[in-house]
Amino acid sequence: MQRTHIRETKDLIDVEVNLFGWVHNRRDHGKLIFLDLRDKTGVIQVVFTPDNEEIYKKAEKLRSEWVVNVKGRVQARPEKMINPELETGKVELSPLEVDILNEAATPPFALDTDGYEIGEENRMKYRYIDLRRQRMSKNMSVRHKIILFIRNWLDNRGFIEIETPILTKSTPEGARDYVVPSRMYPGKFFALPQSPQQYKQLLMVGGVEKYFQIARCFRDEDTRGDRQPEFTQLDLEMSFADRENLININEELLIDIVEKICPEKKIQEIPFPRLSFKEAMEKYGTDRPDLRNDKNDPNLLAFCWIIDFPFFEKDEESGRYTFTHNPFSAPKPEYMSDLLDKKNIDDILTSQYDVVLNGSEIGGGSLRNHRPEALESVFEIMGFEKNAIRDNFGHMLEALGLGAPPHGGIAWGLDRLITLLNNEPNIREVIAFPKTGDARDLMMESPSEISPKQLRELKLKLEK
Ligand code: ASP
Repeated sequence: MQRTHIRETKDLIDVEVNLFGWVHNRRDHGKLIFLDLRDKTGVIQVVFTPDNEEIYKKAEKLRSEWVVNVKGRVQARPEKMINPELETGKVELSPLEVDILNEAATPPFALDTDGYEIGEENRMKYRYIDLRRQRMSKNMSVRHKIILFIRNWLDNRGFIEIETPILTKSTPEGARDYVVPSRMYPGKFFALPQSPQQYKQLLMVGGVEKYFQIARCFRDEDTRGDRQPEFTQLDLEMSFADRENLININEELLIDIVEKICPEKKIQEIPFPRLSFKEAMEKYGTDRPDLRNDKNDPNLLAFCWIIDFPFFEKDEESGRYTFTHNPFSAPKPEYMSDLLDKKNIDDILTSQYDVVLNGSEIGGGSLRNHRPEALESVFEIMGFEKNAIRDNFGHMLEALGLGAPPHGGIAWGLDRLITLLNNEPNIREVIAFPKTGDARDLMMESPSEISPKQLRELKLKLEK
């Protein structure tokens, strides 16, 4: 007999069905046993009566989270027993056969609540249990729908998805790298990508013209609030496009995601308002302003673009210039000659554009320097010696000198966007297996030690 999913039972009155799932809970009411059976689509009430002794006895043994197969007949509930809270609340199942597929130890926490009340450490240690929770199951499925929608949408516009390496090169351009020792070349290391930035630009040099990727990024930063050591970006790059093209394509995609996947949400203002960095700082004291007219409305989305950021800022400690966003960015065209001449550095504005939603930065990008001398100038302003520039970025300068087209792109913090669209308080709620605030995986117990043999193979010695 074919399997029926629980949600479908609401339309199958008087039909015999074959259900698989978990015991959500069991309530004994005098002679009757009520069992809520759950699969990924929903919950149905199963009612056991003592007249069928064999299965009644089985039902008495069932405990929360046991895995069962129940065959039975779907029946309309009597009028006063209807449960409007439940999608299947107008029906219940009269069981004909019960098969126990697996027993379960007492689960570490309850699954019939939204789970916010449970200590997060516990939820992470038993994440595979926590994922059974209906809220988490919905979050995973909305995440999937958004990503699938993005893929199809970009495909329709001629973008192609290309995977870029996870084992890359450590370069001093942003956050701290996660590094991987090389066994074949002792003393040398790969780095995990902080973003596919250089590869996506090299794809533009490679003539790809329209690239995207649902890309994992790794940054070894002291974790603050909403950050994760690894997170997911929608990464995108495009040749022969100007800032207007890039802003528009991203804006259209964001609007379509909201309209198609989260129709209950309302976008406050279209086109998204644009503010210069200066305006945002003067008016709101932040470059991530929350522009919502009504902050109590959970379904209101206020997007905005922030543009015209300064390219460089002085590092307080070293007194040296550093970039505010991305060293590969191009300045706004009117500042190109100052960049090349290394003049009026504090006044140079970058082509950078950030997209902000309800006070959170959910993406940022820029046009890039596609001529090698402009990129070299950025690194010189930052005080890098010629040799250091060649060692770290020689491959980029060489590529730009081999016919690089004008190009630009963006990366969205996809976890954060999905978090906001699901009204969740933090990105860990929309990541299947997140790390803790202090960068540990409590379920796998990593990071963990490696064996002396592995250390020897890598020619690594640990300091005591
Ligand atoms: N790669 C940049 C980042 O991760 C974004 C971009 O400019 O595309 O911040």
